Amino acid sequence: MTNPLLSDQPLPAFGAIEAEHVEPAVRGLLDENRAAIAALLDAGADGWDSLVVPIERMHHRLARAWSPVGHLNGVMNGEALRAAYNACLPLLTAYHTELGQNERLWAAYQRVADRSGASLAPEQRKVVENSLRDFRLAGVSLPPERKQRFGAVMERLAIAQAKFDENVLDATHAWSRHVTDSAELEGLPANAIERAREAATAAGQDGWLLSLDAPTYQAVLSHAVSEPLRREFYEAWVTRASDRGPHAGQWDNGPLMAEILALRHEAASLVGFANFAEYSLATKMARDPAEVIEFLLELARVGKPAAEREFAELERFAGRTLASWDVAFFSERLRKERLQVSEEALRPYFPLPRVLAGLFTVVHRLYGVRIVANPSVETYHPDVRYFEVLDRDDTPRGGFFLDLYARPKKRGGAWMDECVGRIRLEGSTALPIAYLVCNFSPPSGNQPVLLTHYEVLTLFHEFGHGLHHMLTRVDVPSVAGINGVPWDAVELPSQFMENFAWRDEVLPLVSAHVETGEPLPHEMLARLQASRSFQAGMQTVRQLEFALFDFRLHAEYRPDQPQRIAETLAEVRDTVSVLRPPEFNRFPHSFQHVFSGGYAAGYYSYKWAEVLSADAFGAFEEHGVFDQGTARRFLASILERGGSRDAMEAFVEFRGRKPRIEPLLRQMGLAA
Ligand SMILES: [Zn+2]
Repeated sequence: MTNPLLSDQPLPAFGAIEAEHVEPAVRGLLDENRAAIAALLDAGADGWDSLVVPIERMHHRLARAWSPVGHLNGVMNGEALRAAYNACLPLLTAYHTELGQNERLWAAYQRVADRSGASLAPEQRKVVENSLRDFRLAGVSLPPERKQRFGAVMERLAIAQAKFDENVLDATHAWSRHVTDSAELEGLPANAIERAREAATAAGQDGWLLSLDAPTYQAVLSHAVSEPLRREFYEAWVTRASDRGPHAGQWDNGPLMAEILALRHEAASLVGFANFAEYSLATKMARDPAEVIEFLLELARVGKPAAEREFAELERFAGRTLASWDVAFFSERLRKERLQVSEEALRPYFPLPRVLAGLFTVVHRLYGVRIVANPSVETYHPDVRYFEVLDRDDTPRGGFFLDLYARPKKRGGAWMDECVGRIRLEGSTALPIAYLVCNFSPPSGNQPVLLTHYEVLTLFHEFGHGLHHMLTRVDVPSVAGINGVPWDAVELPSQFMENFAWRDEVLPLVSAHVETGEPLPHEMLARLQASRSFQAGMQTVRQLEFALFDFRLHAEYRPDQPQRIAETLAEVRDTVSVLRPPEFNRFPHSFQHVFSGGYAAGYYSYKWAEVLSADAFGAFEEHGVFDQGTARRFLASILERGGSRDAMEAFVEFRGRKPRIEPLLRQMGLAA
């Protein structure tokens, strides 16, 4: 019997994949790769075709086998799969470290660069340059015992980060609030109440069961009239996986956070960097820590005074001092009163099928590709659908699995991930396939799912990542799609797409009232657009708080005073925040972007890329949102190019100059 993870079919065989397939597939591929690389080196391979192409092919195959495992672990987290996933993490980390530290392989890549550097195509040169950089970052030239230590550190780091995620997931699912008196639910949107009713029924209880998933949490904080209920939810949310709150100490990430920071610092030091922030920047657009800090403080100089004015206004409106669990609630009321816009009132205009159809129309008008559902493709859950992306002449260009609803055992948030990467090399071809994941409220009864405008933005955002992956024309997997793109430029295509969901030309395409079919009326549309800059200062300082906290945590780490997490956060809040959260707030304990995701010393990337995306969208504002020439240039310079060229060069090619910060400030209503 063949292992379904090793199949070379275009799509994963989800129906056949079991936890027991994972470890044999991974071990088998790693062994094969090791033997194949040793054979290449023994044969003296040191050219593009003889060395780089076979290695790209084997890593494409490994990524393909591992992708459904990592994905299912994120969206269908069960015990057996979790164990199999965790068993493989150290194997993969050890393999990557070993490759990165392989001196013979390094020398062979060096010879490719020296001997055929001039004759390589630009994308090939980029692959070789990236590889040489990564050898250095893995400590290829270190003495043996330091090499070994680096490997051990990376392996332990992968395990600690995965455990951090597990703790957050388990802590989130462990908490729920049973309500028996309907008065407590006052203010909550009907769909949230309906879901809570269904959850209670499913659990064999009367009344309503409110869980701690993101849509429910947002609904309670923004709409629940009961302050005690909001406070209870707030406390449960901000103390997840910590030493405080309703499950204090049960999944406490505190010790893991200290360990993760120490390991990162040690790894960076071993390969010659002063700290992990510098190590992180070695693969990013930003040049050095000072540039990042200066960039964030420049935004703070504009954002903080605006945030202070907005917060004072909010307290005047509420008529009292506000606590952390009051801000979303009174903001929603103020927004409703001042701008006559409420997310809940907009929902009926955004039925999911209409939003999807509108989004596909936008993409078609911009880039000429068509998106069609293919219900015959096997998925991993009844809620998940598969779509194909077809070129102008109907040839397949790529595809994606769309997984939109929150459910138990699924990680929160929204993201795009690579299912299959594009490859077109001697002996291997594959089209790019993506996973697009959100956590919208699932349908209840026979109502279609109705989205808030914020959720429409989320969908556009993830689709932007998806287009970056699926429209790539790069043939070499390690620089195709989002691969090889500096992390602080990765959010350019995604945040860029969000801009469309605010426009006159686009909103009628994505809206149709669920009962009347009428698109969003013009005056509602105008009010929605006016709300874009609502509390822009407060939103900005919140992002700056996350970004500065993350960056300073890694840049200022000292082995002799490792426990500076809470202190650093307090200092950052003194600099940028307008509201001091309560003492029990432990938000870092569930800050997955930074402690377990890829955003360590890189959270600033959101703001950094927002400058790029606002400026890039400016070209569409100047020439027309659906201007064909502008869209073609964006496609050719940015979307199709992946990581095959320098991110700044690509931006300059599209925009004709370097990025400017003013378009972002204008977009947010913060321009002087
Ligand atoms: Zn994103």
